[in-house]
Amino acid sequence: MTFESLGLDPALLRAVHDLGWPKPTPIQLDAIPSARDGHDLLACAMTGSGKTAAFLLPTLQRLMKHPKRATRALVLAPTRELAAQVHADLLALAKHTNVRGAAIFGGVGMGPQEAAFRSQTDVIIATPGRLLDHMSQPGRYVNFTALEVLVLDEADRMLDMGFLPDIKRVLAQLPPKRQTLFFSATMPKPISDLSRQMLHAPVRINVERQSMPAVGIEQALWPVSEALKADLFIALLRANVIGNVICFTRTKHRSNRLSDVLTRAGIPNAKIHGNRSQNQRTEALGDFKSGKVRVLVATDIVARGIDVEALEHVVNFDVPHVPEDYIHRVGRTARAEATGEAFTLVAPDEETDLRQIEKAIGRKLPRRTLDGFNYKHVPTERLEVPLAERIAAIRAKKAEDRARAKAKLERRSAGAGSTGGGHSSGGHAGGGHARSGSTGGSGGSPKAGSSRPSGAGRRGPGRGR
Ligand code: AMP
Repeated sequence: MTFESLGLDPALLRAVHDLGWPKPTPIQLDAIPSARDGHDLLACAMTGSGKTAAFLLPTLQRLMKHPKRATRALVLAPTRELAAQVHADLLALAKHTNVRGAAIFGGVGMGPQEAAFRSQTDVIIATPGRLLDHMSQPGRYVNFTALEVLVLDEADRMLDMGFLPDIKRVLAQLPPKRQTLFFSATMPKPISDLSRQMLHAPVRINVERQSMPAVGIEQALWPVSEALKADLFIALLRANVIGNVICFTRTKHRSNRLSDVLTRAGIPNAKIHGNRSQNQRTEALGDFKSGKVRVLVATDIVARGIDVEALEHVVNFDVPHVPEDYIHRVGRTARAEATGEAFTLVAPDEETDLRQIEKAIGRKLPRRTLDGFNYKHVPTERLEVPLAERIAAIRAKKAEDRARAKAKLERRSAGAGSTGGGHSSGGHAGGGHARSGSTGGSGGSPKAGSSRPSGAGRRGPGRGR
């Protein structure tokens, strides 16, 4: 089957041709004709399947047929990265049309986004949090009265990230008579319930089929002790067993630490996680895409939405706790029928989570070892310093500073005493130092502590504002 056989407008066919896509992917074959005919869709589709074009092409076709000056399509996406990616795909696919789109997400200024709403941009691609921010502005400039198409992209991810209430708030303000295209990698019960509320007689695509990583992905496990994970990862990079790679860690702290270890080992890398600003994320992704850095260390926030051409490897530095996360991360490689490898480093205490993953994908994954790697050596540094130890180190440093300040004070007092001078000024200065030392120190400790609350606080924006 060809794109021509899908009844798409010549302007869209030209764009597809410009992108060099030889033929539609299975999800595009299934989705485009029904969506083009105006049906609602309920589709199970992984990242990498070509799902974005599966909903953008029929939407563009609809909008270009009867141009109007109004926002007529809204795509809701869970993360900034995914929204930016969908927007980039829209720009490429709408290249030979008059349809315009805008991406609306947090971490960047509201002003240009407000302008996009005011100029009634045809397609708005938004994360739910930032969209609601705009919808509640006093100027009331968001106008969806002419909305014809609503796309929910990666609905299950929205659920995981706690966006269901936000989505319902947005839905309440959209015209009920519209076409809805509902895409999700998995169909847990809250998602199928939501789909029932939102869809009218939808055409169902792949809903009954288990979600699986794309076919071209070679998956393998590298068993190793927790303490030697970073060393093994570096050894795999040095032996070129791993090429350019997105490496997922369980926490932001671990991704920071891994990035430091890689830097010390002379391996160019960038990191991307929820505590990084939008600029830092964009820069990290740009450096990785351009090949300036070889390793992109990431937490799960970016597992969906990143689209890097010719990505050779995904490494799970830690075994994901849920099988769906594994499938999504692994879906970063081997997109649209390319080939790639997905490696998972497995420590003994992660075997239980691994068994769940193997159960979900329906097979045992092969296990590999790296020739010449000393699996018994004792690492010189630990990747992760436990929080209690970090706090103890800060306290010890503070005590040391205080002791030093006290000794200095005593020395000065003794000196002052011997010359007959008063001890008050030196003493107070010393005391002042000691106090400021401790403020600095406790500045360190709230900092260590506050990185958690503020990290948690920033999760909101990071996860889609
Ligand atoms: P997604 O839409 O996130 O599933 O990503 C699919 C990836 O495959 C993107 O990099 C697209 O540019 C690419 N792609 C989409 N459709 C096709 C196609 N028909 N042929 C080749 N590549 C495609």
